Amino acid sequence: MSWRTANKSAMLPSYSRAPQCFSLTGGITMDHLQNIDQQRRYVLLMMMSLVVIVGGLFAGLNAVLGLTGLAVAQFFLVLYTLILIPRVWSARRMLPWTLAALLPVLGIMMLALAWPDGSPSVFVWPLLVPLLAHFLLGRWPGLVVAVLALALTALIALLRFGPAAVMDYPVVVINYALIALAVLLLSHVHEQQREQAQAALLRMALSDPLTGLGNRAALVDGFERLRALAARHATSLSLLMLDVDYFKRVNDRHGHEAGDKVLAEVAELLRERLRESDFICRLGGEEFVVLLPGAVGRHAVEVAEAVRRKLADASIQHNGVPIPLTVSIGVAHYGDDGQALDDLLAAADQRLYQCKQEGRNRVSGGDIEVRPAS
Ligand code: GH3
Ligand code: MG
Ligand code: MG
Repeated sequence: MSWRTANKSAMLPSYSRAPQCFSLTGGITMDHLQNIDQQRRYVLLMMMSLVVIVGGLFAGLNAVLGLTGLAVAQFFLVLYTLILIPRVWSARRMLPWTLAALLPVLGIMMLALAWPDGSPSVFVWPLLVPLLAHFLLGRWPGLVVAVLALALTALIALLRFGPAAVMDYPVVVINYALIALAVLLLSHVHEQQREQAQAALLRMALSDPLTGLGNRAALVDGFERLRALAARHATSLSLLMLDVDYFKRVNDRHGHEAGDKVLAEVAELLRERLRESDFICRLGGEEFVVLLPGAVGRHAVEVAEAVRRKLADASIQHNGVPIPLTVSIGVAHYGDDGQALDDLLAAADQRLYQCKQEGRNRVSGGDIEVRPAS
């Protein structure tokens, strides 16, 4: 019987709450925030499309001008890029594909610069590199690639035209150097600001402002991380669902502000009792979820019991008035209760409901029972 049906038919109706949907993975846009790969994919595909069009034009033009070697190299770059486009479109990890697409483009660009009879006007193209490198590789790798590409451009100019020829056009050289520096700095600062804004958005999207703990969205992320770790090291993982007993009374008797303070204190007490490696989040309202990596069945129930006791023994006060507080905790076990987060939440919720029915201030771990210490 699910908690919802159980709740409806229960004779002890005081454990009531808004119906919850445990499909946490739907509707949350954290992926979009986190997935810088997706943004880079579009920039890379745009770059590749331009390589196909502009590279194709240059290959044709150079073939007509008799620069056959360069035309052939550009033709192969276009062909290679065309083959790569569908792979980039569906790639899971972008970095290898970004390097596979970007480095040949830079290579052929440098070849065009160095080509003896090539037009000096091709030297405008490296000015695009700082933008591309920062957009595609991020702040520091982008800066390194851009600086290397610009340094190589300067070296090729010196070798191809000789220092004297370069010095004959000081205004051109100075303008070129200034524009290169400006593009480099602007793209670097822009990428730095973008990364900071993205990190701030991600922090906001994943945290609960009242307690400073993770929120529901963070739980999805945290579970995936700890589940992968548990699978890799063949260790266990348990989930505790904790609900403050009669919390409505705290608000009713002491005010909403006191209720908020209690929630923040519960979070602090959980942090104190649990380990750094454990994951704690506020699921919503007065409900918290803890993930315990490496805790097998009985151990997880013992930890839950210790948490319950710590909260029951805590002396929380608001304006000098003590606020007694207890919690009920349902424990679910990865594997036995399922492998998906939704399965574990449903099992823990069922046991939490059982605790409420049996009188609150207790822990239920399914078949595993731990006697509360007196
Ligand atoms: P039970 O023992 O059955 O869990 O009873 P309860 O009173 O804890 O449960 P109920 O679901 O009836 O009430 C939960 C209350 O939590 C109602 C709601 O006003 C309060 N609440 C939810 N979110 C917050 C919050 O952010 N701050 C404060 N102060 N109260 C909140
Ligand atoms: Mg509740
Ligand atoms: Mg409650």
